[in-house]
Amino acid sequence: MVGGATVIVGVIGNPIEHSLSPRMHNAAFEYLGLDYIYVPFKVLERDLTNAVRGARAFNLKGFNVTIPHKVSIIKFLGAVDFRARKIGAVNTVVNDEGKLLGYNTDGLGALAALREEGIDPEGRKILILGAGGASRAITFTLASICSKLTILNRTGIKAVQLAKELKNAGSKVDGKGLTLESLEKELIDSDILINTTSMGMYPNVEESPVPKEFLHKDLVVFDIVYNPLETLLLRNARNIGAKPINGVGMLVNQGAIGFKMWTGCEAPKNIMRKVVIESLLGRD
Ligand code: NAP
Repeated sequence: MVGGATVIVGVIGNPIEHSLSPRMHNAAFEYLGLDYIYVPFKVLERDLTNAVRGARAFNLKGFNVTIPHKVSIIKFLGAVDFRARKIGAVNTVVNDEGKLLGYNTDGLGALAALREEGIDPEGRKILILGAGGASRAITFTLASICSKLTILNRTGIKAVQLAKELKNAGSKVDGKGLTLESLEKELIDSDILINTTSMGMYPNVEESPVPKEFLHKDLVVFDIVYNPLETLLLRNARNIGAKPINGVGMLVNQGAIGFKMWTGCEAPKNIMRKVVIESLLGRD
C-alpha cells in the first residue's frame, strides 16, 4: 500500500494509456515487497519542461520516457550515458539526488532477449528491418558484436545514414532501401533477422515485412513487435522451422535494467513477463 515513504517512479509520454510498464513494474515491486510505485504520466510535448521540473520537485526516483519525448528529454538531463548519446534518444532516467541521468536500455534489452533464447549474436550476420528509434538502439548495441550488419529501411536514405553513423562500430555495416530484391538477396546468408518496423503490429496483424518464401529454417527471426504475441512474420517463421522470438523478452529486459537502476535489486523478470503476456492476451 502507498505510504508516506513510498518511492515514486513512472513513465512520461503521450499517449500513455496502453503502456504495459506500470503493470509490469508494479507487479515486480509487489513481488519483492519494495515500497515503490510506478505511475503513468500523460505529458504533452509543450509540457515537457514543466514535467521535468515536477519530476525533480516531487523527488521521483526515476522515470521511463516514451513517444514523443525520447529525443527532446535530452536537453533537460544533467548527463547522458555514451550509448544513449550515440543512439540520440533516452528511454530511462535516474534521479541521482537532483541530477537527472539519461540512459537507453532498448538495445541491451534486445541483446538480453536474444541471449535468453540461447542466441549469441557474436560473429553472426544480422539483417535489421527498419531504421527508426528501436533500430538505432539495437544497431548501436549489436554492431560491435556481430560480424556483419545490414539495415534495410522503407526510406532508404535513413538506412544509409544510420550505416554511416555505425561505420566505426566494429562490424561491417551496410544500409539500403527495403525492397523485395534487397530482402531476398540479404536473407539468403543471414543468421538473424530482426524486424524493428511496426509492420504486423495490431491492428495490422495480416501484414508482414517479409514474404514467407524468403525465410529459411536456419534463420533466427526476432520480431520486436509484441502485440500480437505472434505476428504473421513469426507464425511464418515457426511454420517453416525457423526459430521465432517475439518482442516480450526485449520489453521485459529493457524494463529490468531500469528497475535495477532505480531499486538496486535484480528485477523478477519471470513475474514481469507473466504480467505482460497476461495483459496482451486480455487485449483484442
Ligand atoms: P519509429 O521510430 O517510428 O520507426 C518505425 C520504423 O518502421 C521505420 O523504420 C519505418 O520506416 C518503418 N515502417 C513503418 N511502417 C512501415 C511500412 N508499412 N512498411 C515498411 N516500413 C515501415 O518506431 P520505433 O520506436 O522504432 O518502433 C518500431 C516498432 O518496434 C513498434 O512496433 C514498437 O512497438 C516496437 N518496439 C518494441 C519494443 C520492445 O521492447 N519489444 C521497444 C521499442 C519499440 P520509414 O523510416 O520508412 O518510415
